[in-house]
Amino acid sequence: MPIYEYRCESCGHQLEVMQKMSDPLLKDCPQCHEQKLTKLMSAGSFQVKSKSAAPVCPSTGAAAMPSCGGCPALE
Ligand SMILES: [Zn+2]
Repeated sequence: MPIYEYRCESCGHQLEVMQKMSDPLLKDCPQCHEQKLTKLMSAGSFQVKSKSAAPVCPSTGAAAMPSCGGCPALE
């Protein structure tokens, strides 16, 4: 399941959330409760993994991507 990184435009709070591709984007900041969350490009944990050994998607055989909703190899 891909990990999404959000940042609050209001208070600067950052959080990582595991979501399915079909899940709606988060809006509510858990810290200041403003609806100011914006999604960042990709989670840092994925970038670290891709540097050492590229994970392979067991369903497609291609390199696993955060955008691949069917990749159990990714957390
Ligand atoms: Zn906030």
